[in-house]
Amino acid sequence: MPDNNYNKTSVLIVGAGPAGLSAAIQLKTLKPQLDICIVEKAAGLGNHNLSGAVLEAEPLHTLLDSAVPGWRQTPDARDVLAKKVDTESVLFLLGKSLSFNLLLFMKLAKLFHLGPGQMLHDGDYIVQISKFTAWLGKIAKSLGVEILTGFAAEDINFDKSTGTATSVKLVDQGRDKEGHKQPNFVEGEIINARFIILAEGCDGLVTEKFIEKAGLQRLSPQLFSLGVKELIKVSPQQYQSFSASRVVHAMGFPIWTPLVGPAMFGGGIIYPGDNDHIAVGMIVGLDWKYRDFNAQDALSLFKEHKFVKQFIEGGTVVEAGAKMIPEGGFYAVPRDPVSGAIGRANCLILGDSAGFVNMLKIKGLHNAINSGIQAANAVTESLDNPAAAAKTYTALVDGSTINKEMKSARNFRQTVAKFGTTLGFPLSVFSNFLPRFTVEEDYKAMTSAPYRLKPDKDFDKDTFTAVAATEHREEQPSHLSILDRNICDQKCTPNFNSPCITFCPAGVYETVQGIVKPANPSNCLHCKTCQRKCPFDNIRWTAPEGTGGPRYKRM
Ligand code: SF4
Ligand code: SF4
Repeated sequence: MPDNNYNKTSVLIVGAGPAGLSAAIQLKTLKPQLDICIVEKAAGLGNHNLSGAVLEAEPLHTLLDSAVPGWRQTPDARDVLAKKVDTESVLFLLGKSLSFNLLLFMKLAKLFHLGPGQMLHDGDYIVQISKFTAWLGKIAKSLGVEILTGFAAEDINFDKSTGTATSVKLVDQGRDKEGHKQPNFVEGEIINARFIILAEGCDGLVTEKFIEKAGLQRLSPQLFSLGVKELIKVSPQQYQSFSASRVVHAMGFPIWTPLVGPAMFGGGIIYPGDNDHIAVGMIVGLDWKYRDFNAQDALSLFKEHKFVKQFIEGGTVVEAGAKMIPEGGFYAVPRDPVSGAIGRANCLILGDSAGFVNMLKIKGLHNAINSGIQAANAVTESLDNPAAAAKTYTALVDGSTINKEMKSARNFRQTVAKFGTTLGFPLSVFSNFLPRFTVEEDYKAMTSAPYRLKPDKDFDKDTFTAVAATEHREEQPSHLSILDRNICDQKCTPNFNSPCITFCPAGVYETVQGIVKPANPSNCLHCKTCQRKCPFDNIRWTAPEGTGGPRYKRM
């Protein structure tokens, strides 16, 4: 990397999601004079943020009560936090018409302190995370944080001799498809910083490079799921009958039917949006084994279930999107093998980049915010000794509710991954009493078995990406690469029929003149599923030019 250092800040945060913005807000609250810069690849704040999302409010209250006196009375806060959960359903769906409410079981589990009891969400907020993120960004800016949207980071410089991270390299702008410089070429800047905070979200590009360069390790491989979601405009009567304060989580059809299959981890969600909108989503563990499976097919089938259909039939999909969720939990958090630090020296890893999702709660937003608070506290404690920041941060995280609840869910996802859905789900109730298992990366799970419920009609990915409003500058190098085309031809296509063509939610991969390729990179939704689900680990995702990608507004 050339040594053209022309940018410098005290704290550089990669990613303007809830974790990074919370760190920035807390830093400005504690040290108003500190210069803080956030780089964010999305064109606008919140454009790349998609989630359920049910928010446990305590960390947010802690953050804003000290940062913004009177924030609860502001119109923005009233709007973003307008909905609280007062009704919830946890369903098991059997076939296209039967549904069983498991709420009593969850309440009993809570009474006996068993894992599934954590799934209850009473009193939490129902938020639209893209809107929520834009609001946090507005607060951070008002406190003096510099947020550079449309600037994608691609690498981190790590000085092995000192064991510290020195700078972050941004993506070049203005190369053509072959990589040649165009007249508008601008080399990606190198931003030097005393502290670097990695808060890129799930499977962060810079984070994973840092983990490798700094020699961090996970006790268990990170596991992922893919979530696909649609926001649907329904009639006022349907919206009212669903209720603006209800959340629904559903297991079973169409991804799991005990004994007869299919057998996949995950389930459907239904949340209310604003103004007669209902969000319907499907989350599926990436360790699915069906070569022709596509999470959007499962979403379509879910929408056809009698229980779901009553609320959305006749509605119009106005927004859609896809993202991965880190599911590996406690054992998949990257740590320094010697010190146990979640980071190294002056570089800290936060939120989904660290994997702070509690799979028993199916929530990570509160942990992302809390990790931002802890990171800011650690940085301010380490101003005179930046190399101590990662250890201080880790001690704060390990002493916080993040660690407590990550530990309480430590074996849940691995139990299902190890024993399968039929045995794994019942066993997972007692997963805390089980030892740590060795599990394999998701991509190794692929088999030649077909998905039993595969619909006859192909899912309309063109419309899906159109409402995700994804776009990239066409004249740039592809940000997706296939490492070895021979593997596609000789191993994957004969055995699995090139599953990337089916599972990519944006239809990026196609067979062109007999060759599988990422033919439509400008449709990419930045979910990174292809990088983690290609059965031969044969795809790499890098950051395209800044501003590329989806433009979520109410997801
Ligand atoms: Fe198969 Fe991966 Fe090649 Fe696609 S890129 S055909 S999933 S090996
Ligand atoms: Fe997701 Fe990869 Fe498809 Fe982009 S190309 S939408 S990262 S699966």
